[in-house]
Parts: sequence; structure tokens; C-alpha cells
Amino acid sequence: MPHIQQLESHVADLIAAGEVVERPASVVKELVENAVDAGSSAVVVEIRRGGMGMIRVTDNGCGIAPEELPTAFLRHATSKLRTEEDLGKIGTLGFRGEALAAISAVSRVDILTRQTGTTEGAALHLEGGVPGAVEPAGAPEGTTITVRDLFYNTPARLKFMRKDSAETAAVNGLMQHLALSHPDISFKFIKDGVEALLTPGDGKLDSAVYAALGRDFARGLVPVSGSGGDITVSGFVTAPLMGRGSRSMQVFFVNGRFIKSQLLTAALEEGYRNQIMKGKFPGCVLSVTLPVTAVDVNVHPAKTQVKFAREHDVFDAVYHTVLDALGKTGAPAAAPAQE
Ligand code: ADP
Ligand code: MG
Repeated sequence: MPHIQQLESHVADLIAAGEVVERPASVVKELVENAVDAGSSAVVVEIRRGGMGMIRVTDNGCGIAPEELPTAFLRHATSKLRTEEDLGKIGTLGFRGEALAAISAVSRVDILTRQTGTTEGAALHLEGGVPGAVEPAGAPEGTTITVRDLFYNTPARLKFMRKDSAETAAVNGLMQHLALSHPDISFKFIKDGVEALLTPGDGKLDSAVYAALGRDFARGLVPVSGSGGDITVSGFVTAPLMGRGSRSMQVFFVNGRFIKSQLLTAALEEGYRNQIMKGKFPGCVLSVTLPVTAVDVNVHPAKTQVKFAREHDVFDAVYHTVLDALGKTGAPAAAPAQE
């Protein structure tokens, strides 16, 4: 057997980066989450060739201080988490301090930023995670990050990338979810020079649903709103007669975070029991909010899964809210509500 040795740090960084940055959509997700956490009211995402050509995210959030710019790209560097106790009550989308380090490790990055209330911005270029010098630069308030040549230094990952069209579709779907989870933020998505999404950011979920998912989908929706204890559930579900062939239009948010959850899917579908044809699935845009201490988001690097402290309560809140809303539609196919 060869000797056991600790990996060189840049090799370890590449391995860690692979967990966070799987494909262009993961880059977009992390950069937009940062823009949301920065308190932005408008976010523009631009990609070329499915993100393999370029990814650019521009926000009008709080910006980053020039002297902290290189630190932001170090592993485990974050402004969102300080202590062990903080891990139990995460209220931001980010907290791992990994994204900028991971993205910059496998690409060429340019960042331009100006902090709110300051007069001079700063720019920084990084290649494979290695930063150049921070330069003073004119910039609007907020941050613009441009990512080029993704995976240029990880040929194994590059080789397994799918077609640009598949990557574009993945980013498109992600942008819909991000826009729906933050109706108070205006999102613009431009792919290969063409505007593909624009939400008004007026704070209304129905405006965001209309803009992101289209008129036809929006028309068949039933509003839902309810709560169980400190858990609130709101959003829209499809009318029972509008059942769909797959679960792809089931969109769930927990505290503003798009997640995948078998528990929420099961609760939703239980609400439709006896009301929807066999082999058909309800669609939804459902937002669940609960105290940050009642949900653990530190489950997976991509942060698309959560653990609920009180699974039964969450299930019941969603189930009853859906059942209530469907009962009120008076749909002819509706069976009497049953406990
Ligand atoms: P995390 O989001 O988990 O804290 P990141 O690596 O994504 O880790 O970002 C590191 C830090 O850089 C953040 O904690 C934040 O302080 C700062 N930052 C990143 N993106 C932005 C942005 N768009 N606007 C303002 N600050 C940002
Ligand atoms: Mg982040």
C-alpha cells in the first residue's frame, strides 16, 4: 500500500468544490442565494451556452467591503454564521461559506461590488481560486459576479457535462423556483441574449406565478392559506380536475428556500385523496414558514433538503390547509372532507 498522506489543499479544494458545483445551475443557485441574502430587490441573471460560456449575476444588495473581498472567496468564510448555536437557527439561504470558494476553484471569476452608502467600489479577478489584487473600481451599489470557463481545470467534470440546451433548461427551471420563492424581488433571466423571465417583484405570489409559470397554469389554481400552531402554509394548488401526469409542478418552499420533500408531497397528495384521478398528480406552489429553530437546513451541501423537528405537525398543517382550500372550491368531483 502507498503511504497515507494528507491531500494538498488545492486538491482538497477541488474535491470539495465538486460537491457544491455540480453544473452551471448550481453556480446560478449559489450566486442568486447570495444576492437574496444581501437584501436585493432586483436580481439579473445572464447565461451563455447553458452557463458554460458565461454566468453573470447582478444584484442591488448590500455589496461587499473592498478589504473583505478576498476573504469572501476563502473556504468556510461567511458573514452569516458565527457560533455553533447559530447552526440551529439559520435564517439565511447561505451559511456554509463554501459557494464562492467552490465556484472560484473551478472557473475564472470577476467580481465588481460597491457597499451601500460608500462611494468607491472594488473589483477582483480570480483564476482557479487564486485571487489577483483588489482594484478600486466604479460600480453601482450592489454586486456583479461573472463566471467564465466553468470546469476548465477539472477535465473529468467537463467531459460529463450535458448539452448546453439541457443546462439552459436546468437554469431556467431553477430561475422559476427562485422567482417564485421571493415574490418581493424582481428577477430577470436572460439566456443567450434573450429575456426568458421577468417577475415584477411586487410581493404578490400570484404575480410571480403568472410571470414564471404562465397564464394557463395560473388560471387553474386554487389559493390556499392556513396554519397549525406556529406553522403557516400559503400559496396555490391546482384544482382537482387539473391533475397532471407527473409531480414536476409541485413546488415547495420552506422559509423561502426551494426544497424537495417527500413529506410535503405526501401531505399535499393526501389532501387530494379521492378527488383526483388515479395516475394524476396535483401541482402546487406552496410556501411553508415555521420558526428557524424547528427546521434543520444543514442536511446536504446543495441545501435542497431539510429536516423538520416536528414532522407530524408540518404534515398536518399542509394536509389540512390543502383539504380546506379544495373543500371551498365546491368542485363537483370533491368528496366530503374526511379526518
Ligand atoms: P455563504 O453564502 O454561505 O455565507 P458564500 O461563499 O456564498 O458563503 O459567500 C461568502 C460571503 O460573501 C457571504 O457570507 C457574504 O458576506 C459575501 N457575499 C457573497 N455574495 C454576496 C453578494 N452578492 N452581496 C453581498 N455579499 C455577498
Ligand atoms: Mg452563499
